[in-house]
Amino acid sequence: MVQRGLLIVLSGPSGVGKGTVRKAIFKEDGVDFRYSISATTRKPRPGEVNGQDYFFVTREEFEDKIQNGDMLEYAEYVNNYYGTPRSFIEETLASGHDVFLEIDVQGALQVKTKMPEGVYIFLTPPDLKNLRSRLVGRGTDSAEVIEKRVAAAKDELKMMINYNYAVENDVVSKAVDRIKAIITAERLRVTRVLGELDN
Ligand code: 5GP
Repeated sequence: MVQRGLLIVLSGPSGVGKGTVRKAIFKEDGVDFRYSISATTRKPRPGEVNGQDYFFVTREEFEDKIQNGDMLEYAEYVNNYYGTPRSFIEETLASGHDVFLEIDVQGALQVKTKMPEGVYIFLTPPDLKNLRSRLVGRGTDSAEVIEKRVAAAKDELKMMINYNYAVENDVVSKAVDRIKAIITAERLRVTRVLGELDN
């Protein structure tokens, strides 16, 4: 029997730098996670590639997927749907590979209810003022959308209690090192090591 892969969920407020940290982790040597590509109804930003950054779909297509039970979780965030396709996660974990999800807080909680054995990591901004300036600096959202995102982030920070780990994203390379340390420790859990000995 193949040892089941580890489910790693990186979450936290929008604009905290989840995407940047995730991309930096995937560039590290020796990292062999499979990234779960989300579906969204949001329009692609310049440079984003369908099937690589997201599966960009219409509202109708997304609602069909919900109806068919194809989404492990989904959330509506600033007037768009975002969701995690179920089959990729199930098949990849069953084949023994680790899966890495980068999703919002509402979605992470839904996944945790279904898959409590996962590793849930909450990325925190050094402070909220910094979050707003990051969103402004990114230059991709209107002032109104930025204020909505900051308000959502304040609520999301209260959700940290539901996670296994909190990682401050002060410096990206430090956040990456902390996450790698968490995953190393998780792989060495006695229950996993015993599971491997059994196989
Ligand atoms: P953005 O529009 O900046 O790409 O993403 C907006 C928010 O949606 C971010 O917090 C991002 O992590 C989150 N997100 C991306 N994919 C998913 C997903 O599949 N499910 C959920 N619940 N949130 C997602």
